[in-house]
Amino acid sequence: MRSSNLYVLVVTLFLAFSCSEKPPRPIDSSQPMTILIQPFKDFNSETVTETAKKIRKIYPNVKILNTIDLPKNAYYRDRNRYRADSIIKFLDSRTKEGFVTIGLTSKDISVTKGKVKDYGIMGLGYRPGKACVASKYRLNKNNTDDQFFKIAIHELGHTQGLKHCPEKTCFMRDAEGGNPTDEETDFCHKCKTFLINKNWKFNSI
Ligand SMILES: [Zn+2]
Ligand SMILES: [Zn+2]
Repeated sequence: MRSSNLYVLVVTLFLAFSCSEKPPRPIDSSQPMTILIQPFKDFNSETVTETAKKIRKIYPNVKILNTIDLPKNAYYRDRNRYRADSIIKFLDSRTKEGFVTIGLTSKDISVTKGKVKDYGIMGLGYRPGKACVASKYRLNKNNTDDQFFKIAIHELGHTQGLKHCPEKTCFMRDAEGGNPTDEETDFCHKCKTFLINKNWKFNSI
């Protein structure tokens, strides 16, 4: 009787010790992603704060980084523009797993689109990926901050894997060379559901 009790105790102790020694944890893919806001030096700090505030309402995990220079290799002298593809490549190289960086600039940015070698755009983002950029250069002067938030959230949507959306009022609408942001009111139901499945909160919208 005694020896069997002792056996039970030993087994219990063994289990207790063996359970406390867990193998190293694999990287937790359910860990929420952090959005890093990377203002470039040309960008005004009020709009940085305002944009961060608006993004936090639908995705709370947001950090603002110190300003940096635009990457020199992105400058396109002929048209005094910055290449958006070079900017997001640069931001991507500085972004660790579990983070998404959005660059904010007031400079004109461009990308090659079909046969047009240097096509001016408002934003560009990997789909999906860790980096995107938004420019306020092409926005209306009277409601820049509101339009800028819509560009930023559109590009962040791409980084999450969202494609362009046929809904005219959806943030994921294709700009098609214009600036339709004043007609956009929210993510449509379909795009919103997609983001909710990626841990987006939509607390205040
Ligand atoms: Zn887009
Ligand atoms: Zn949509």
